[in-house]
Amino acid sequence: MDYIQGKFLKIDLSKNEIAEEMMDENLFKYYFSGSGIAAYMLYKEKTYSLSSFSPEMPLLIIPGFLTGTPIPSACKTSICSKSPLTNTWCESTVGGYFGAELKRAGYDGIYIIGQAVKPVYIFINNGEVKIKSAEKIWGKDIYIASKLLKEETDDKSIIMCIGIAGENLVKISGIAVVKEYNEMRAAARGGLGAAMGAKKIKAIVARGTGDIKFSNKTELIKSVKSYIPSIKENTSAFSKFGTAGSVPGAEISGDLPIKNWRGMSWEEGANKISGQTMAEKAFVKHHTCFACPIRCAKTVKILSGPYQGEETEQPEYETIAGLGSMLLNDDLATLIEAADLCNRLGLDTMSTGAVIAFSMEAYENGLITEKDTGGIKLNWGNREAILNLIPKIAGKEGIGVILSEGTKNAASHIGGVSREFAIHIKGLEVAFHDPRLWATMPLNYATANRGGCHLESLGYLAETGRFNPSLLGFNSDRTWEENIEMSIKLQDFMAALNALGICKFVLLGGIGPEQITHWLNLTANWKLNIGELLFVGARIYNLKRVYNNKIGFSRMDDILPPRLLTSGRTKGSFAKKNPQLDRMLERYYQLRGWDEFGRVKNDKLKELNLDNLII
Ligand code: SF4
Repeated sequence: MDYIQGKFLKIDLSKNEIAEEMMDENLFKYYFSGSGIAAYMLYKEKTYSLSSFSPEMPLLIIPGFLTGTPIPSACKTSICSKSPLTNTWCESTVGGYFGAELKRAGYDGIYIIGQAVKPVYIFINNGEVKIKSAEKIWGKDIYIASKLLKEETDDKSIIMCIGIAGENLVKISGIAVVKEYNEMRAAARGGLGAAMGAKKIKAIVARGTGDIKFSNKTELIKSVKSYIPSIKENTSAFSKFGTAGSVPGAEISGDLPIKNWRGMSWEEGANKISGQTMAEKAFVKHHTCFACPIRCAKTVKILSGPYQGEETEQPEYETIAGLGSMLLNDDLATLIEAADLCNRLGLDTMSTGAVIAFSMEAYENGLITEKDTGGIKLNWGNREAILNLIPKIAGKEGIGVILSEGTKNAASHIGGVSREFAIHIKGLEVAFHDPRLWATMPLNYATANRGGCHLESLGYLAETGRFNPSLLGFNSDRTWEENIEMSIKLQDFMAALNALGICKFVLLGGIGPEQITHWLNLTANWKLNIGELLFVGARIYNLKRVYNNKIGFSRMDDILPPRLLTSGRTKGSFAKKNPQLDRMLERYYQLRGWDEFGRVKNDKLKELNLDNLII
């Protein structure tokens, strides 16, 4: 293969075995790489019938097909397995520098099975791979562990690491990627930190100095360069404030969830914790992911608590919603401190914010008392409550034992009416874009393969025109039917983008499927058209759906929590447009080629050339 190395690393921790495998070139043509190839491998091996913590369950770490090339924002790595939180297909995708470094070290992916006897880390150094003891760093926070690992290996290593939450098998734990101390990106969703912890892997350390293979280098660089100025211009606000800059606008439109999704407006609070306010009060510097001209990442100063004065990641939009508006926490210092704590401990800030919001509502309803919390009053916006609960969740202490299982499981445990306000889809706490405002988001959330995920279609960006829907062939003035068609096309496009390793925010820079296809063709010497790119995306999307079908997920799981279906917001330009989800689902299944129960039909699999995977 002259456009990709094609080599995967296969590790069996139970047997302490390390091997290399050259992948069949056709797999890259069929699934690109990243979450696409992962879907194929996990499905083919029938891992849907395994438990997520079983030693036989593979953990796959696969950079996107284009990751490491000069294509803008081609930096992503997908971590895939069966979710410990939701029991569904799970992909959690992370930016930063790990994927490019892994490729430079000689590998296009890592496949890990088994379970180590004692904590380990895996050191991948320019084609040489060692499984080393992590006993000295087990129990350390992500930043400290990364620092120690850099000292022990190479200062230029890129570290993929779990925190104490992952070690403790907390189901809302994530995996961090660290380049520099206090700078991290996270594969946060779905509890894959616990999947890594179950294998007793504290970290994977990559160091590579080789070249990354791709074709037509000169032409590709020339083409990419010509788009950088317009990408920068179109994303200048994003560059300036990060995703955090969207908070005030989201509050005005009614997209921002408030007080566990039942608040109507919170203008003053939103402004106090926005990216604009952080730029004034805490900003230190901009940083970025591999090959990304947008530079949405920021470093800020910690304004309170034990790490006051140190630097940390600026909380992003989703984190601000989770640890801010969802909890009515309008104190910037508390927000930054809480986000930093989650990062250090390896918790998903979104699920953590959501489960704390849930616990505050349970407290308000007398379903949790101070006896349960060790005397902490779980009042809305209470700084002490937020900062106390986070380490309790990561350490599975006291009330944290229940909350560490995620909102759905916590509600089952607490009982009473708590399930009414446990806001999750298929067990994943819903991402913080209010589906009541959008024509496509209810469908997107209900059918997203990993549960309540906004990234599987980004419909809200297309509906506002921030990603131009005409690039996928849709007008701004769409019929009901066209909205469903657009949802499907967006899902397929996002599945393809994810497998390619491109950050979806590049779409805000005016880049669309035409440009992506052109760059892909240059890189791999292929001759795909946009339809064929979307066809691969459809293949991947459907394969993840069949995986879930095999576990037993069907139409009855494609639902939204009652609060998001029936309680129309009174604020915002889209207010009171409650989704007609049932009707939409029926048509969506027809257009998808699924049966009335939401199962992918064999004919559909044949149409996608997946005959060999019909089981
Ligand atoms: S837009 Fe932000 S998240 Fe995406 S690649 Fe660039 S810096 Fe990373």
